[in-house]
Amino acid sequence: MTYWSDSSALQTSQRFLRLLLVKCLNVIGVSQNFIFSFLVDHEPGISMSQRESKIYPTTDKTGSIMPVPCSSCDKKPAVLRRPKTGHSLCKECFFWAFEEEVHQTIISAELFQKGETVGIGASGGKDSTVLAHVLKVLNERYDYGLNLMLLSVDEGISGYRDDSLETVKRNQQQYDLPLKIVSYEELYGWTMDQIVKKVGLKNNCTFCGVFRRQALDRGAMMLKVDKVCTGHNADDVAETVLMNFLRGDIARLRRCTSIITGSEGAIPRCKPLKYAYEKEIVLYAYFKKLDYFSTECVYSPNAYRGYARAFLKDLESIRTSAIMDVIHSGENLSVKEDVKMPTQGTCTRCGYISSQQLCKACALLEGLNRGLPKLGIGKQYKLHNRLLKKDPLTEEQRKKLGAVTF
Ligand code: SF4
Ligand code: ZN
Repeated sequence: MTYWSDSSALQTSQRFLRLLLVKCLNVIGVSQNFIFSFLVDHEPGISMSQRESKIYPTTDKTGSIMPVPCSSCDKKPAVLRRPKTGHSLCKECFFWAFEEEVHQTIISAELFQKGETVGIGASGGKDSTVLAHVLKVLNERYDYGLNLMLLSVDEGISGYRDDSLETVKRNQQQYDLPLKIVSYEELYGWTMDQIVKKVGLKNNCTFCGVFRRQALDRGAMMLKVDKVCTGHNADDVAETVLMNFLRGDIARLRRCTSIITGSEGAIPRCKPLKYAYEKEIVLYAYFKKLDYFSTECVYSPNAYRGYARAFLKDLESIRTSAIMDVIHSGENLSVKEDVKMPTQGTCTRCGYISSQQLCKACALLEGLNRGLPKLGIGKQYKLHNRLLKKDPLTEEQRKKLGAVTF
């Protein structure tokens, strides 16, 4: 039998109140920076006295304020407790520690070669903004010799991407980097606003995710970059490990922890922030006063990832290392030799890498253009082949592919 202890009930209600507060603050337009610094300060599971003694100035016997010194330089007062390590650090030591960890990730995985042109997938959000900033700093500090560029995808989502692209354009000026924007409209003839009108709010992220992946590759080819790097952080990677594990998606589970991906024909992609905690990325952006966009996509139901995220955040609140633990588990899982893996070929229509006759983007697009939006969702490969051979669909098949739950 399970009993709710007073403290766990209290923590659950605290968590609920925190979520409610974030939603309310979001609605009235308070910046994510502010909200996040509040969340870090009010993390459940840490008593006020623990927090005060660890992070904030404390008092001596006479009641005078005694700032906690930075545990790294021992000179300046600490301004934060690192979510990843628990160390109390001053701003400068935190910046240094964060940047050095990214540098170590880059060096140990040999992500770049001198002279390479690297496209930074830039959305205007906190992750890609921090990535662009840190890569520029490290490129100069350690003389990587990289030619950095910003590469953005315009999905055509009004009230979201149009605003975030304005941030990217400001970042371009601030970091003095070239910028290329590729849009769904020019590549596929559809904006996400139009796609949502056809497919509803249940499968929209499937379309968007597949199209974005290919759009980034196409943009990268137009820019002639050697590599693309994305702002995926440790929390994203851990969520993906969990989701693939829960879905039994062995092929993806094997790939999703790789810091660098890309087989023949595809431009390699890498994740220099793979080991950076989301909370630290927010703190870095906040203390560096970086210009980033923090509103959520207006079409963001992605419920499955949302549950995985909430589950991980709960684990993290009682065990700081939970995110790294999940990543390490993912990295060390080995797949049995006799497990059948999909063989990679190329799409017969657009030449993009694909394990089927039609790549996922072409199948989704074909479905949209034929008024059969479910054609690319799920495993409808037999029907793809029928369409490719120009065999007519039965009425039942048309119904199956046309019906969409809004
Ligand atoms: Fe696209 Fe979904 Fe992300 Fe919005 S939440 S940008 S629709 S993938
Ligand atoms: Zn294709």
